[in-house]
Amino acid sequence: MTAFWAEPDFDAHELVQLVHDRASGLTAIIAIHSTHCGPAAGGTRFWHYNDPAGAIRDALRLSRGMSYKNAMAGLPMGGGKAVILADEQRIKTPEMLAAFGDAVDALGGRYVTAEDVGISEADMVAVSKRTAHVSGLPVAGEGSAGGDPGPFTAYGIYLGIKAAVQHKLGTDSLSGVHVAVQGTGSVGGGVARLLAQDGARLTLADISTDRANVLAQQLGAEVVSTDAIMTTPCDVFSPNALGAILDDNSIAALDCPIVAGGANNQLAREEHGEVLAARDILYAPDYVINAGGIISVATEYLARRDGRTGTVAEVNALVAQIPGRLQSIWRESEATGISSDVVADRMAQKLIGRG
Ligand code: NAD
Repeated sequence: MTAFWAEPDFDAHELVQLVHDRASGLTAIIAIHSTHCGPAAGGTRFWHYNDPAGAIRDALRLSRGMSYKNAMAGLPMGGGKAVILADEQRIKTPEMLAAFGDAVDALGGRYVTAEDVGISEADMVAVSKRTAHVSGLPVAGEGSAGGDPGPFTAYGIYLGIKAAVQHKLGTDSLSGVHVAVQGTGSVGGGVARLLAQDGARLTLADISTDRANVLAQQLGAEVVSTDAIMTTPCDVFSPNALGAILDDNSIAALDCPIVAGGANNQLAREEHGEVLAARDILYAPDYVINAGGIISVATEYLARRDGRTGTVAEVNALVAQIPGRLQSIWRESEATGISSDVVADRMAQKLIGRG
């Protein structure tokens, strides 16, 4: 048997805990990649895996991603992630959530959890009955941090697109700048609305054509098919739906000078950052530009931990630092000839004491 730490996704994780609670049937994995910058923060995924090894791989890979994302967002938080292994029917019971809350609590604050795929705000409220190390809870009142992180993610991406346009096209105005937006959900829809306010020209696509059409009507945008969005001639392609969309074929077909959007893990493989650079396409590393949501979640948690209520103004002030981070990545990339995704990874590794 291969040693666990020889797993390709194992990256000197500080702790990987397998959790099983016989009474509730909970089976979960909690992975803490790094607490160098602070308590390891990252959401809980509730997912059915055909092979449990896939759950371990997800926990290892995603927790490392959170270390990088949190460090590059300037947050005093490390990186962690939990995965609850769902059965085929995806049955989730209050007892399971309570047992999961106990498991998080037993880590004494080394891991802070929040929503991810398959876990709702109501689930987090249930978990919070057993542990204080939870975020992503309902907003406490007007102007308070918390709730849906989507709008903060969208705001950071909008600011990142502005910075990319400034950097690559040399203009401070988005008026008439053509952005092709893939995915018009919580993040993509928010990005499109903000861009429209600045007079950008928008082309939208979503597998939910109704959603794309309704938004397009509100914003005066054009809609194309999901097949056409990545080849639409434009100034910025903004992926806000799926991961792994940038591969050899799709990059060759892109007709734009900038890729900047919120989808997680956009590069199909690591080398695709280099493929983008070779085509002279400016790429905003996904975990840097899409950090607005975790900034909201972390601000909410840290304020509550310190006995106060975090504010939306605090969150927005931190999100406003995203463009500066992107600019320093792009400058470093241009100075060294190293692609922007690798520059970002190296910066993140340094910040978590592994550079
Ligand atoms: P969402 O479910 O609200 O929206 C996703 C949208 O993409 C949906 O409208 C869906 O119909 C559409 N879609 C799916 N497949 C598509 C395809 N092939 N072509 C075009 N559209 C497609 O999700 P979201 O919260 O907006 O998240 C979008 C992306 O951003 C995800 O990759 C997510 O991991 C990432 N992200 C989200 C946040 C956040 O705060 N919500 C934070 C960081 C990263």
